[in-house]
Amino acid sequence: SLTTRFAPSPTGYLHVGGARTALYSWLYAKKNGGDFILRIEDTDLERSTQASVDAIMDGMNWLNLAWTQGPFFQTKRFDRYKEVIEQLLATGHAYRCYCTAEEVDAMREEAKAKGEIEKYNGMWRDRTDHPEDQPYVIRFKNPLDGDVVIKDMVKGDITISNEQLDDLILARTDGTPTYNLTVVVDDWDMKVSHVVRGDDHISNTPKQINILKALGAEIPEYAHIPMILGDDGKRLSKRHGAVSVMQYRDDGYLPEALLNYLVRLGWSHGDQEIFSREEMIELFDLKDCNRAPSGFNTDKLIWVNQHYMKTLAPEYVAKHLAWHMAEQGINTDNGPALEEIVKVQADRVKTLKEMAEISRYFYEDFTELDATAVKKHLRPVVKEPLILVKQKLAELTTWSPELIHAAINDTAAELEVGMGKVGMPLRVAATGGGNSPSLDITLALLDQHKVVARIDQALA
Ligand code: GLU
Repeated sequence: SLTTRFAPSPTGYLHVGGARTALYSWLYAKKNGGDFILRIEDTDLERSTQASVDAIMDGMNWLNLAWTQGPFFQTKRFDRYKEVIEQLLATGHAYRCYCTAEEVDAMREEAKAKGEIEKYNGMWRDRTDHPEDQPYVIRFKNPLDGDVVIKDMVKGDITISNEQLDDLILARTDGTPTYNLTVVVDDWDMKVSHVVRGDDHISNTPKQINILKALGAEIPEYAHIPMILGDDGKRLSKRHGAVSVMQYRDDGYLPEALLNYLVRLGWSHGDQEIFSREEMIELFDLKDCNRAPSGFNTDKLIWVNQHYMKTLAPEYVAKHLAWHMAEQGINTDNGPALEEIVKVQADRVKTLKEMAEISRYFYEDFTELDATAVKKHLRPVVKEPLILVKQKLAELTTWSPELIHAAINDTAAELEVGMGKVGMPLRVAATGGGNSPSLDITLALLDQHKVVARIDQALA
C-alpha cells in the first residue's frame, strides 16, 4: 500500500514551504487511500526544540492535515540506526575511517589542485587494521562506478554518476548517525513508498538510493518539489514577511484559503483556481506539479481568502472570526450573532482580522467618533436630519431593516435633502466612522436603544 511522510526538523515553526510539502504528501496519500506519516527529524539536539515540535503540529492541525501514523521521533530510534550501521559494516558496505578532519581537508585540497572532484579519497575503504584508541567515523562504501538514476515524479529522470559521490559519513566519531542514514533507515522501516520533499534535498537522493540498495531495501518513488520564491525572486524567507503558517492564522486567513493557495502554488489543473478539499484530493497528482519554482503572491492569497470568507457557511466562518474577536479583546456575548457579521462584512474586507477590527462597534460603545467622518458628515448645520431621524427610529415598534430604511427615507423626504444627508451622519453616530455595511442592516443588527443612545451621544 502507498505511504508518504512529512519529515520536518523541529528547528522552527511550520513555514509555508513545509506546509506545502506536507499538503502534497497528505494529498497523495489521501488520493490513493494510503498512509501519511509524521516523522520528527530531531537528531540535531542543539537546534531541535519541543516548542517547535508543538508549533509544527499546531500548524498541521490548523490546516487539518491529519497524519495516520506517528509522530515518530528520530531521537527514539538511535538503537535501530546503530543496528543498521552494524549491518552495513558486517556486509562490507561501510567501513571505519580514522582520518582526522585535517587529513580529509588536505585530500579535498589536493583533489581540487589537480582539478578532480573534491572528495574523500577512500584511503580507509579497504583497510582491515583498526588502530586502537583512535577516534573514527563510519563511512559508506559508495559504488565506484556506474550511475544512479532518480526517477523523479516531478522532474523526470535525473542521472548522477557514482564517481561524483563521496563515501559519506554514516556515523560521527561520537557514534551518532548522520541525516542521510537516519532518513534511509526510517523510509525503509516505515515502508515509505513515495518521498515527497523540497528539491533542496535532491543532492541527497542519489546517496540515499545507494544506501538503500546496499541494504537490499526497495527504492521509493521520489517527488522533489521546486522551492517557493519571494516577490524579489529569492527563496522565500522571513524577510519577505509572514512565512509561518500560524502567522497567517493571526493575520486573518482561513485555513481553507491558505490550503487552496498552497495547492495552486506549484500545481495546477487547467485554469481552475478554487478547489475544495475533496476536489484537491480527487484531482491532485504529483506528476502534474510544476518543475519551475513558484512565486509567492500575497494578493492572490487575499483573493482566495475573500472567496472563502464569502462562500463558506457563515456559521463556520464565524467560528474563526470569534477567535479574532477574542484576540482583539472584543467581547461578543452581547450583540449580533457572529454569523450575521460575517454575512454583512465578508465582501468588505481582506481578512478576518480586518473583519474583527471593523466590527467592534457592533459590540462595544465608544466615546470618540472618527474625526474625518465627523468633519465631513456631522457638522452642526446637518444636525437637523439626525435629530429628526432619531425621533423616527425611537418610535419604531419593530426594529427591522425595512422600517429603519423607511425612517431614513421619510426623514430625507420631509427635510427635502438627499438620503446621504441623513444616512451619513447617522452612520457616523451609530458606528463611530464613515464606513459600514448598508445602514438599515447595520442598525438592525444593533439594538434600537443602543442606536438611539449613540445618536444622543453624537448630538451632545
Ligand atoms: N528533515 C528534513 C528537512 O526538514 C527533510 C528530510 C526529508 O524529507 O527527507 O528538511
